[in-house]
Amino acid sequence: MDVKTLAVVGAGQMGAGIAQVAAQSGIEVVLVDVNPELVQKGLAGIRAQLDRAVSKGKLKAGEAQAIAARIKGGSSAQEAAKADFAVEAVTENEAVKKKVFQDLARALRPDAILATNTSSIPITRIAASVDGPERVIGMHFMNPVPVMQLVEIIRGAQTSDATYAATRALAEKMGKTTVLSKDMPGFIVNRILIPMLNEACFALQESLASAEDIDTAMKLGTNVPMGPLTLADFIGLDTCLYIAEVLHNGLGDDKYRPAPLLRQYVDAGWLGRKTKRGFYSY
Ligand code: NAD
Repeated sequence: MDVKTLAVVGAGQMGAGIAQVAAQSGIEVVLVDVNPELVQKGLAGIRAQLDRAVSKGKLKAGEAQAIAARIKGGSSAQEAAKADFAVEAVTENEAVKKKVFQDLARALRPDAILATNTSSIPITRIAASVDGPERVIGMHFMNPVPVMQLVEIIRGAQTSDATYAATRALAEKMGKTTVLSKDMPGFIVNRILIPMLNEACFALQESLASAEDIDTAMKLGTNVPMGPLTLADFIGLDTCLYIAEVLHNGLGDDKYRPAPLLRQYVDAGWLGRKTKRGFYSY
């Protein structure tokens, strides 16, 4: 399937990024959100990103205009009815996502593919809530979408080979590199990353070293661009805790238990960069 029109549902930070990269790849996009103001905010954010690329000489002004013109806003799945493929990037809430999938399954063609950008909800469970679960798949973009090269593709128990092939082809058309994961908690990236960040919290809690030394050790000792505590502050400590709980509950192994210090920071409202305080002050 060569995707000509993509529906992106949810115009937040991920949805806007997905819409922008798809439009840059020549795909027509309908960007849908329940809140019309957020659709406008998403579209304005994309235009600002494109303008920045023009001012840096990375894009011609005419190209930026053509990209922006490929993205239309909308407030319901019906407005995206002609899409051959939909990517859902709404709030991480299972009931909300299931409702979005049911609306998309009714509004789009029966062979249109329905992908979710969920970070943690089982694809198999979302698929089971719609007619045609074989066309449901996980397509997990990384944040920020225009910058990050990876897309994790997650096959639910019912996902067909054709759905997987079309999803991989779309990600590649968008210039991304894909990896394939089974539908297990955390998929690949968060299964490995979150226990590492959580272990850094345990190390800090046990006064193994200062936050600065833990980050410097990992940055210079393992050649990563950011130390684990800096990265946790960037992701948001509430998000890190939530994913740690998904791993702990879903895999049922105490080795994934969230560090008490991480929980305490979240209880205190110290969520990282977004609240100007986490392991560091901003
Ligand atoms: P966000 O809060 O920035 O955006 C979510 C958007 O969904 C909001 O604009 C909201 O109005 C909209 N929305 C809520 N209910 C809706 C509905 N019924 N129909 C249409 N729109 C609706 O969130 P985000 O950070 O963009 O995350 C979106 C999804 O992407 C989540 O599933 C999240 O787990 C996943 N994700 C996030 C990141 C990240 O780093 N932020 C990375 C990878 C995946």
